[in-house]
Amino acid sequence: MIEEKGILFILSGPSGVGKGTVRKELFERKTELRYSISITTRGMRPGEVDGVDYFFKTNEEFERLIDENKLLEYAKFVNNYYGTPKDYVMETLDKGHDVFLEIEVQGAMQVKKNFPEGVFIFLFPPSLEELKNRIVNRGTENEDVIIDRLKEARNEIEMMDAYDYVVVNDDVDKAVAKIQAIIQSEHCKRERI
Ligand code: 5GP
Repeated sequence: MIEEKGILFILSGPSGVGKGTVRKELFERKTELRYSISITTRGMRPGEVDGVDYFFKTNEEFERLIDENKLLEYAKFVNNYYGTPKDYVMETLDKGHDVFLEIEVQGAMQVKKNFPEGVFIFLFPPSLEELKNRIVNRGTENEDVIIDRLKEARNEIEMMDAYDYVVVNDDVDKAVAKIQAIIQSEHCKRERI
């Protein structure tokens, strides 16, 4: 087999869908994947370790990284910056290792622009259709709230079309198994003698 570059996998999806849980479970299993530890300006939560969960930085430090073009992508999420270190990702891929990003949708769309060969996986909540039907049929919300909620759902669905795969997270084990299958399948696609 020809020695190939690693593959970049991007897991994203709407906030609250369970990306973190799925990603942790995936890495609990035997995997050759390398996780790209993100950089953030948000405060450290109890139990989190700098350099393990995130690289925790100040706003000034983060903005310097933006200016120096050190980030593959970044986004502001609930008033904090989150970003992916470019050098780590590029160097790891060059060495032939797969890299896995777990990031929110805005960031994933930036990666897609600069890195269309990445494999984009959208984690979808099992109950969005139900939620939609409920919002419309219930009739108890005021009109503005219905419009806002539906708009949000629609935006998410529109984003979903930009992804290569959709995985419904109705069960963490099943979702992880599907992601493992996607990884295997992407390797088979690229295998050349
Ligand atoms: P949390 O503060 O709960 O750890 O993460 C908040 C959100 O930021 C989650 O949706 C998580 O996936 C996303 N996130 C984590 N790292 C990155 C990153 O490097 N870039 C982007 N764009 N989002 C990230």
